Amino acid sequence: MGLLRWLLAIGKKGRYHYPQETIITVGNIDPKYDRLYKAASRSEQGKWYKVNVQRLTCSCPDWQKRRSAYPPGDVRRVCKHVYDKLSDGSRKAF
Ligand SMILES: [Zn+2]
Repeated sequence: MGLLRWLLAIGKKGRYHYPQETIITVGNIDPKYDRLYKAASRSEQGKWYKVNVQRLTCSCPDWQKRRSAYPPGDVRRVCKHVYDKLSDGSRKAF
């Protein structure tokens, strides 16, 4: 194999080589929070989403479309509504 072909072969292989992905997880959340909470929409007044802070789920389009695919505990499951409820001391259940 000529040098050029060898380099091309390496280049092709390199394209499929990604560094190992680091998954950041949210720490263990008490099972008592495994229930639905109301989280206000930030953009639409009077609109609410259903958030489960223990399972890191939300009924908003962002979560349903993009975040639901991540594994349990993965920090990418945290949409702004889950975040609001995680950081809000006065969580109000439905
Ligand atoms: Zn959300």
